[in-house]
Amino acid sequence: MEITLVLGDITEQEVDAVVNAANSSLMGGGGVDGAIHRRGGPEILEECRRLRASRYGKGLPTGQAVATTAGRLPARWVIHTVGPVHSRSQDRSELLASCYRESLRVADSLGARSVAFPAISTGIYGWPMDDAARIALEAVRQAETSVPDVRFVLFDDRAHATFASLLSGGDL
Ligand code: ADP
Repeated sequence: MEITLVLGDITEQEVDAVVNAANSSLMGGGGVDGAIHRRGGPEILEECRRLRASRYGKGLPTGQAVATTAGRLPARWVIHTVGPVHSRSQDRSELLASCYRESLRVADSLGARSVAFPAISTGIYGWPMDDAARIALEAVRQAETSVPDVRFVLFDDRAHATFASLLSGGDL
């Protein structure tokens, strides 16, 4: 597997699957989630609604992942995963790692060859970037997956620099 870092907007990535940092309602939100639904169009939300009705009446649990169409995005699928809200009193790292593992498992089941991830939980959900980046890179590296091309799409210089120093530092 090759891991690459991109500074930019995940909705512009030409990959098989784009991962959405969704919330458990699957009904859209701010940040990446808002951008994906805005650019991808209403088809994505329609499929999310059907998934709520058929499989996830109580919402998609934290750490799990599910795929829908990518609508008008230049990707084939959106894989929605629910990151944990950061907590100072509880270690939720395993749930964050699970988001990456489960997304790659869904990608494998679809036959996706390229997957783009945002830095899950580092926005509204409050996870410190350096800790989240370490968990993300470790989880992806250790995942049992046949996806050959994994891309982290970072939205600002600081996030990109944090991922870059961890990826090149070899200290994972
Ligand atoms: P969460 O609720 O999991 O914290 P957010 O969407 O609030 O998710 O933020 C996750 C990360 O995605 C943040 O680092 C944020 O800066 C970044 N982000 C926001 N919009 C985009 C985008 N269009 N493409 C890539 N990353 C984005």
